[in-house]
Amino acid sequence: MKKKATQQLSIATRAIHGNKLFAFKGPVATPIYQTSTYRFETSDDAVRYAKGDPSVYVYSRYHNPTVHDVEEKLALMENGETAALFASGMAAITTAILTVTKAGDNIISTPALYGGTYRWMRDELPKQNISVRFIDPHHLEEIAQLADERTTLVYIETPTNPTLTVVDIAEAVRQTKKAEKKLNHPILTMIDNTFATVINQDPIKLGVDVVTESATKYLGGHADILAGIVVGTEDFVKQVRALGKYHGGCADPFAAYLLGRSLKTFELRVHRQNENAFALARALEKNKKVIRVIYPGLSSHPQFQIVKKQMTGFGGMVTIEVKSSKRYSPVEAAAKVCDTLKVAINAMSLGGVETLVSIPVYSSHVFMSDKELKRHGVTAGMIRISVGVEGIDDLIKDFEQALDVI
Ligand code: PLP
Repeated sequence: MKKKATQQLSIATRAIHGNKLFAFKGPVATPIYQTSTYRFETSDDAVRYAKGDPSVYVYSRYHNPTVHDVEEKLALMENGETAALFASGMAAITTAILTVTKAGDNIISTPALYGGTYRWMRDELPKQNISVRFIDPHHLEEIAQLADERTTLVYIETPTNPTLTVVDIAEAVRQTKKAEKKLNHPILTMIDNTFATVINQDPIKLGVDVVTESATKYLGGHADILAGIVVGTEDFVKQVRALGKYHGGCADPFAAYLLGRSLKTFELRVHRQNENAFALARALEKNKKVIRVIYPGLSSHPQFQIVKKQMTGFGGMVTIEVKSSKRYSPVEAAAKVCDTLKVAINAMSLGGVETLVSIPVYSSHVFMSDKELKRHGVTAGMIRISVGVEGIDDLIKDFEQALDVI
C-alpha cells in the first residue's frame, strides 16, 4: 500500500485531524450533511459526476460529505489506501465478501466467527452457490491444501468471539500466498478486526488485503450507533462501493457524524479498556467461582506466543467460565451472575465505554447445535465481558459480589 505522509503521525492525531493538517476557514467539527440529494450549479455537474469527478456530490446513497470525512480518517487510521463506511458491520462484511465471490466460487474461513457472519455463510451463501470451507484455525496449512481454482477469498477473525482464540495472521497470509502461487490466480485475504481494533493489531501491516470492522463497537464506542467499515486498496474498495450502491447499506450522515466524534477519543478509550480488561482478568483468575479466564494478555492463553507476536495490546474483551453447583447448572450460574451485576450491564454488543456482559449460548451462539458449539469452543457456563472505562475497583467489586451468589 502507498504510505501517505499523514500515516507517519500517531493514530490519535490521524483520528482527530484526518488529512486536514493545514489552515482553512471553517467549522472545527464536521457538520452533518443531513440531505438525500445535492443541488447542481449547472447540468454540467451531472456530466462531471458521470465522468468520475469526486468533487461533485449527487445522492447520499452514493456519497455524503460527513460520511466522506469519516472514511478519510478511518483509512488513515487503519493504514489503508481508502475506506468505505456502511450502515452496519454486517452490511460492510457481506458487501465486501460478495464483491470478491460469485456463483461457483468458494471461501476458506476459520469457523469461530461472529455468529451473524457464520450463520450468513452457513445459511445464505449456499443459496447463491458460494460455498465456505471451514478450516482448523490452528492448522493454517489447510488453506494451501484446500484452495482450488475457484477459491477467491480467505476470511479470518481474531481474536474470535467469544472464545478469544487467536489466529496467526501472518501465517494465514503466508499460506494464502502459497495457494495463489500454486494455483496461479489471486486469492484475497480479509479480516474482521472488530475485537482487536487497529490499536491492538494492525492487519494491513501484517499483509492482509482487506480489513472489515463493526464500527458499532470500539470505533463508535458509546453504544449509540450502528456502522461498519471496509478498508483496503483504492481498486478493491471502489468495487465494494459500487456493489454497496445496489445493496443500499449506505451509512447514515448522523451516524457518520457520531462516529467521527467518537474517533477523537478512540485511542484514549481503547487504552483504558485494555488496562481495565487486564486488571479484571487478573482479579477473576483468583476467584474460586471462576473455572477459566480467557484473555489474550494472560500467559495461560492457549495462543499466548502468537498474541505476543501480532498484538500490540490485549484488548477489552474477557471471557470467563463460571462454576456450576448442585443449585445452578452452568447456564443458570452464568445467568445468575449476569443478573446480579450492578455496574456491568447485561446486554449484547461490545466495545462501548460501559461494561457489558452476555451469555454466548443465549446470544451470539443461540440456536447452534451441540456439535457446532463444540467446534466453536463455546460452553454453557461462559460469560463474555466487554470491559468499559469505569473505575477498575468498582468493576472488580461488582464481579466479586455477583460471583458470590452462585
Ligand atoms: N463482527 C463482529 C466481531 C461482531 O461482534 C459484530 C456484531 O456484534 C459484527 C461483526 C456485526 O456488526 P453490526 O452489528 O454492526 O452489523
